[in-house]
Amino acid sequence: MKREKYKVKSGKIERENKACPKCGEGTLLAEHKDRLHCGKCGYTKWKSKKTKKE
Ligand SMILES: [Zn+2]
Repeated sequence: MKREKYKVKSGKIERENKACPKCGEGTLLAEHKDRLHCGKCGYTKWKSKKTKKE
């Protein structure tokens, strides 16, 4: 198992590619309105470009 090296840097997510961090860079995440979703492993990454009240 690979360790995830996606660390938050200064409040920003470094290298925000549309690749699944679990499946690797070969697997792209499907982009939805507010989130990215991996159809392979089910990983969901929420976009938070704005700080809304949630
Ligand atoms: Zn995945």
